[in-house]
Amino acid sequence: MEGKVNEAPAIGIDLGTTYSCVAVWNNDRTEIIPNEQGNRTTPSVVAFLDAERLIGDGAKNQVAMNPSNTVFDAKRLIGRKFSDPKVQENKKLWPFQVIEGPANTPKIVVSYKGQEKEFLAEEISSMILGKMKEIAEAYLGKVVKNAVITVPAYFNDSQRQATKDAGTIAGLNVIRMINEPTAAAIAYGLDNKSEFVGKINALIFDLGGGTFDVSLSTIEKGSVFEVKAVSGDTHLGGEDFDNRMVDHCVSEFKRKHNKDLTGNQRALGRLRSACEKAKRILSSTIQTSIELDCLHDNIDFSLRFTRAKFEELNMSMFSQCIETLKACLKDAKIEKSWVDEIILVGGSTRIPKVQHMLRELFGWKELCKSVNPDEAVAFGAAVMAAKLSGSNDEGVRDLLLLDVTPLSLGIEAVGEIFSIVVPRNTQIPTKKFRNYITSIDNQCSMFIEVYQGERTKSTDNHLLGEFTVFGLPLAPKGEVTVKICFEIDPDGILTVTAKILSTGMSKQLIIGSEKGRLSKDEIEKMLKEAEKFKFEDQAYKKRADAYYALEDYIYKMKKKVKDYNVNKRVNPDTLRKMENVINETNEWLEDNQAAPLNELQRKKVFLEFVCTPLI
Ligand code: AMP
Repeated sequence: MEGKVNEAPAIGIDLGTTYSCVAVWNNDRTEIIPNEQGNRTTPSVVAFLDAERLIGDGAKNQVAMNPSNTVFDAKRLIGRKFSDPKVQENKKLWPFQVIEGPANTPKIVVSYKGQEKEFLAEEISSMILGKMKEIAEAYLGKVVKNAVITVPAYFNDSQRQATKDAGTIAGLNVIRMINEPTAAAIAYGLDNKSEFVGKINALIFDLGGGTFDVSLSTIEKGSVFEVKAVSGDTHLGGEDFDNRMVDHCVSEFKRKHNKDLTGNQRALGRLRSACEKAKRILSSTIQTSIELDCLHDNIDFSLRFTRAKFEELNMSMFSQCIETLKACLKDAKIEKSWVDEIILVGGSTRIPKVQHMLRELFGWKELCKSVNPDEAVAFGAAVMAAKLSGSNDEGVRDLLLLDVTPLSLGIEAVGEIFSIVVPRNTQIPTKKFRNYITSIDNQCSMFIEVYQGERTKSTDNHLLGEFTVFGLPLAPKGEVTVKICFEIDPDGILTVTAKILSTGMSKQLIIGSEKGRLSKDEIEKMLKEAEKFKFEDQAYKKRADAYYALEDYIYKMKKKVKDYNVNKRVNPDTLRKMENVINETNEWLEDNQAAPLNELQRKKVFLEFVCTPLI
């Protein structure tokens, strides 16, 4: 890490559903990197406009004006099929269009620079990751290449692989992907390092904008992080609470004014922003109001919202979180009393009812709020990034991470039964084998379908990939054995190998290379396109800066001329000539608002030359 002068240290990125955060390990401590607005988290939003592309705060701020071309929630789409019921359910609520692409992949359709464009969720996520990379580069003054990216613990293999691809498209070398609650545990462990005497058993309760994760981990002297069990829901979070509030407002509007605003995307966008704001306020006060002028058909909307109403609307989802947590404890055979610390992660854990239900479950135990819920994940990712880059700093030297696989992995056996090779909550990296025998006489090939999930019937689980092993020696059924090996790397990504024992012949499937996934060529193409977009964004910004610089200069010189007219310190003739040039340039700028960068620069240089006596 030390010798590379122009390369920044590896960064940690929390790629969130609603907000993302980037951090770096610097001088034996973690720094959360603020964006250009000074904010420590950046909205995971990309907006496409006629002239430019905006990412982050700029994109979120204009969402109400441009709802159909402002894309958010890419994390809810990534690694999923178009036909996935969750995608279909969310599609109804998104103001942007999602269509079915090749191999059942969802594609986001937007209008960009006057043209219709289609993007994969990986590409949108890569734009957000690219923005986080830029934020870090601006702060560190160096090129960022290596990064640790976090994913929800409950992400399956396709979602992990697709997130890794997004990192590659953003021009990052993803050195590791770690689970979000594990990263939070690292943050907690390091933050409290000096207080540690022995082992701490921690429950990490992570409720963010779009995902819910629980993990049961043991933290030893702030250095060894052993994950015992994980569970969660990759489709449950703050946005669902916002949606329930929006639905409520829509019905209230209908009840009061007998008008349906569900077709009005702009109104829905404004309503969603207002609901999210109200939700945050309701975490600290017990009532607020939503006021929106001319929401629909020139009708103003005003509604008093109480915390009680908010809780009533979302109670089923809060209970779902608690039930998932109980199931995780039961599944891992862990008693509630095992938990020493309850660590809150994710903005939605600020909701008082969520905290109340959690405390109630654990006999009114105090909750740990020492780590910032919005930053803990990026914090831990940065620590891991330093460790993997070979840092010998005291804070990371002894760090050891023992993570687990969140879902069982296996293949389809006779009768559509899901035969598990790697049970869930197995520590990774891991390599596990299982032998399968032929099921008919003279069977010459074996078709292997790899699934991930917990259901008994294989097809109820998530199909990760399939392949066929040919060349089985002809023999009566049950006499030929194929050894199936599942290998999971530290990123949680799987490789399956099938070997015919009697011949030694083998075939391998790296999950992620099957149809519907991005090929190397496709990633390469997207990487080039991402660079092109970045270049266009920079060119746009440069031109806009030159435009405003000229406009500003004209304004300043006009003012100076006025002052000189009063002072009469410059020859009146010269002053008149200058004034003419200033006015001409002003008119020219009004008539040529789309003038290219070089012309704008040329005009400014000329004007500066003419106005020299004024300076
Ligand atoms: P995260 O993905 O962890 O950044 O969490 C973002 C989510 O937390 C968004 O849905 C926010 O609306 C939500 N959130 C942030 N602050 C609060 C708050 N004070 N009360 C309720 N929800 C919040």
